[in-house]
Amino acid sequence: MQPGLDALGRDLLSRVMYGARISLFIGFFTVGGALVVGTIVGAVAGYVGGRTDNVLMRIMDIMLAFPNAYYARLNVQGKITNMQNVQNEVKYMMQPELAPAGETAPQKFGAKDVNDLSWKQLMDAYSCTECGRCTAECPANQTGKLLSPRKIMMDTRDRMEEVGKVIDVKGKWEDDGKSLHSYITDEELWACTTCNACTQACPINIDPVGIIIDMRRYSVMEESKSRPALTSMFTNVENNGAPWAFGPDKRMDWTQ
Ligand code: SF4
Ligand code: SF4
Repeated sequence: MQPGLDALGRDLLSRVMYGARISLFIGFFTVGGALVVGTIVGAVAGYVGGRTDNVLMRIMDIMLAFPNAYYARLNVQGKITNMQNVQNEVKYMMQPELAPAGETAPQKFGAKDVNDLSWKQLMDAYSCTECGRCTAECPANQTGKLLSPRKIMMDTRDRMEEVGKVIDVKGKWEDDGKSLHSYITDEELWACTTCNACTQACPINIDPVGIIIDMRRYSVMEESKSRPALTSMFTNVENNGAPWAFGPDKRMDWTQ
């Protein structure tokens, strides 16, 4: 008899299948329960509004904290991700033969509005419990700058709700003349030192810095807006291939 087809093999197989059936039931029960509870909470919060909305949203914050912690960024804090679409643009400009057929230029760089943020960033905003630990640790805030990482998350949530209301009323998204930049000013964005003290302080691993960086990228790459010190650095990189105001032929002058 082949291994696995004897009495012991059949017994083990039946136990594994029994366990799988139980797991499947638990999975469907959990997802279905979350769907029903989420729909009821969302409907009540949306239509009752006021204090009830606030209480229900705080409950949602706490519930979302668990998946948020599960999907937290685990790589080194302070590591800024590369913009793959920019890298591709440069690569295809230098070596057009590498560009895939039908490749079109990216529509937009960085984040103008909540629609340009990732689902994780949006979930971050909904799971923020507004505890303020991030702002308490933020060196920019401590030195009197306008920046508050807690406010970044609350502004993102407020803008999401505003966008949601437009979609509710009009049946689809229509530009309302505002964006996330209407809530978060340039002064706030450029006060951030990207030190990541806020992400380290957050009990549920929310990452306000990612939103700040994406919004800065939009300001610089789409609107040509940046700080004066950065503008001169960009000019130097463009002209000299380095952030300093010296041509490549002068680089070794310091050795003499
Ligand atoms: S990364 Fe920016 S927002 Fe976060 S603590 Fe540092 S300065 Fe503040
Ligand atoms: S520490 Fe985290 S949960 Fe608390 S306010 Fe800041 S982002 Fe929100």
